[in-house]
Amino acid sequence: MTLGTRGLLTLTVLAAVLLPACAHATPPRLSNIDRSQFINRSMAAEDILRIWVLYIGQGDAILVQFPRAAAEPGVEMLVDGGKSGPKLQQHMRTLYPLATPSAPTAIEHVVLTHHDTDHMQGLSGLFNDPRFTFAALHHNGLATWVRPTGLPAAARVVRDGDRFMGRLQDTGSAFTEEFRVDGLDTFRAGIDNDQFQGVYKTYAARLADNVSSASRATRGESLDLSGAGADVSVNVLWPEDTLHAYDGRSWSHTINGNSVVLNLQYNNFSMLFTGDMNSHSEESFRHVLTSSGMAGSVEVDVLKIPHHGSADNEEAFIRMTNPVISIASMGNQGFTRWGHPDEDVVSWAGGFRRTFHTHAHERQNYAGRTNAMVEGSHIVVETDGEWFRVFELRDLDDALPTVTQTAGGDGTRWIRAE
Ligand SMILES: [Zn+2]
Repeated sequence: MTLGTRGLLTLTVLAAVLLPACAHATPPRLSNIDRSQFINRSMAAEDILRIWVLYIGQGDAILVQFPRAAAEPGVEMLVDGGKSGPKLQQHMRTLYPLATPSAPTAIEHVVLTHHDTDHMQGLSGLFNDPRFTFAALHHNGLATWVRPTGLPAAARVVRDGDRFMGRLQDTGSAFTEEFRVDGLDTFRAGIDNDQFQGVYKTYAARLADNVSSASRATRGESLDLSGAGADVSVNVLWPEDTLHAYDGRSWSHTINGNSVVLNLQYNNFSMLFTGDMNSHSEESFRHVLTSSGMAGSVEVDVLKIPHHGSADNEEAFIRMTNPVISIASMGNQGFTRWGHPDEDVVSWAGGFRRTFHTHAHERQNYAGRTNAMVEGSHIVVETDGEWFRVFELRDLDDALPTVTQTAGGDGTRWIRAE
């Protein structure tokens, strides 16, 4: 017997009615979708955690505003800074209109996931902005050095032209301690001895002058979020204490492969920050997670797609994160030249309907309910730890879509965090 259209319809309706009642029997990907529903939700202002994936051209710049307990000034974390100092400064001034040189706003945590220009250079500009102060910088320890003299000709190193990243141990691909930065003293020593190069040299000088402390972020550590209210945590999942060269000592694969990966948790809500991890390092990371029984630590509500959605991602790793929503950030160059975000990567993360990216897309006009193609939007995640929503914002000083508009089905629906 074949089912007619009517029979299929009946089955579909039946399934829709029955699925919520047997949620545990549904596969994980379906249960994620079932979590999304339209509700009237108004969150108490002090409970809101906001994550701004800023449209900043090519690169990542992600600001996290932790929920602020009454009378507390709040705790902020900036993950990377894109490659334009002026753009990042402009966005930060819009988001913190009360910040002035005489009453600067404190950014408690700055994370440089890795020292590629499109993540680092914007920070150089922001460090020089007297409207902000910076407490703690977290980084992976790699830097761009002038190639040292006196190394044996056969020394195993990672370099690109005369730029030098570090020396490897005689056997294997592990970095020696010799050329890794850590606290401010290591930055100052590199500056005093004129050992850094290019954009890294500027970055190191600006951070040494403007950041209160610096340290390596390694797997197993947690950021000190005192003052951010209860129930929030940020754990470092990658890199391990020993850094490795990737893809035959490739400069770019090694920088990306040692990206700092963070898991942010706020009650039931979680988000994974992945820098520019690539397929080689994701494979290593996945093995570390699996062998230590920690695979669940990367399964999240929201995934920052690694490396702007590059095709150089590992399917098994992306599937392991099993996100409800994923977000990729990129500029025109990444979108048109490199095809970010890659179609396969998006499908592993759950498909286009569940993926946001910062470059070109159909933007919904919340007030007029009309759609238009626009180039470049910021992506905002808002959560109280129980529910979250994700929406696009063309301009940072635009009003956020309201709950009523959300309930109207404009794509900013609330999703239950699990
Ligand atoms: Zn990048």
